[in-house]
Amino acid sequence: MSIQTIKDVDLSGKRVLVRCDFNVPLKNGVITDDSRIDAAIPTIQYLVDQSARVILCSHLGRPKGQQVAEMSLAPVAEALSSKMKLPVTFIEDCIGPEVEQEVAKIGEGEIALLENVRFYSAEEANGVEFAASLAELADAYVNDAFGTAHRAHASTHGVTKHLSPCVSGFLIEKELAYLGEKTANPERPFTVILGGAKVSDKIQVIDALLEKADTIIIGGAMAYTFALAEGRTIGESLSEPDYIETAKSALEKAKAKGVRFILPLDNLGVKDLDFGAGTFNDPKYFEGNIEDGWEGVDIGPKSIALFKEVVASAKTVLWNGPMGIFEIDACNKGTFAVAETIAESDAISIIGGGDSVKAIKMSGFSDSVTFMSTGGGASLEFLEGKVLPGVDALDKKA
Ligand code: AMP
Repeated sequence: MSIQTIKDVDLSGKRVLVRCDFNVPLKNGVITDDSRIDAAIPTIQYLVDQSARVILCSHLGRPKGQQVAEMSLAPVAEALSSKMKLPVTFIEDCIGPEVEQEVAKIGEGEIALLENVRFYSAEEANGVEFAASLAELADAYVNDAFGTAHRAHASTHGVTKHLSPCVSGFLIEKELAYLGEKTANPERPFTVILGGAKVSDKIQVIDALLEKADTIIIGGAMAYTFALAEGRTIGESLSEPDYIETAKSALEKAKAKGVRFILPLDNLGVKDLDFGAGTFNDPKYFEGNIEDGWEGVDIGPKSIALFKEVVASAKTVLWNGPMGIFEIDACNKGTFAVAETIAESDAISIIGGGDSVKAIKMSGFSDSVTFMSTGGGASLEFLEGKVLPGVDALDKKA
């Protein structure tokens, strides 16, 4: 059943508490990536245009229930104000009588931003009193923080028990449309590319997507556990021997369902890798088996060519996880080639959060994809088919 959005309700004149994801990276008080602020603006602008009294809240970092000056949301208020060309009143706390007095001054179409909700440990503990105090500030609730929707916190979950209506903003609506509907009823062929470090982290996603995809491509260190399952050698590559049986079951399930399951044909192997320094010795491409002494760090040119060919014929592509240790320049070719291939394809392209979004931005192709998720853990849990508490708590459509 789908949830109600801000378009389904009348919020004009109402005090609306909006849970945003303003968890931006900061360096010496300066925001180094403002994409989360940009992503929140359509909802905020809509509420301003609807003459709502907009009360924004968010977490930033992990202050663990302490007031940590470096994790104040004050720089976000400033950045948001300059982007929207509207005043944003920053309130130096998020609950209590003084905050209530400040919020009472917010007029129709005006915006306030509360201080970091995680300055209270009751936020992450979903404390009943804390949630009730937050709810005191408003009449209605909008959740637009997809990145924390997989957590039942006071500002994503508890607060909904006290406010009505509780609806989603445009960002959550879009995330659910792309990660949900567009992958549940995809335009076919539907190709999924999964990478990253661990099979154990992604097996539930693989399992869920085996029900939907036509082709699943595996890269990254994850592929080495699958290589072990196929009886190949992987040298010193990162793998999870405890998950070989799991990998075998996934391969069998793919076969039974007629899903094409593609593993890398070749890999870049290196010796003496020092991740911190970004250095290594004896780089060499291996087709099939990787020899003892070498560690697989990226997919090779033959894999890239094959992956390109498969993506070129897809109508929907979903990508999550890098193809190699993309943080090191010499090991990022496979990941960036996948980014380029996806950007060049005419398919609906969905980039599922975290490192893949980072990689597509680093490679300069982020303008050419259909949708980039703002959630890391949340997008994975949603793709696994799990219910997200922050979404589940919202009002359902009749
Ligand atoms: P994940 O969070 O599971 O998507 O994994 C992302 C991490 O996987 C990145 O930090 C990559 O450096 C790492 N990774 C990808 N391929 C490899 C590889 N072949 N060996 C070691 N780490 C890898």
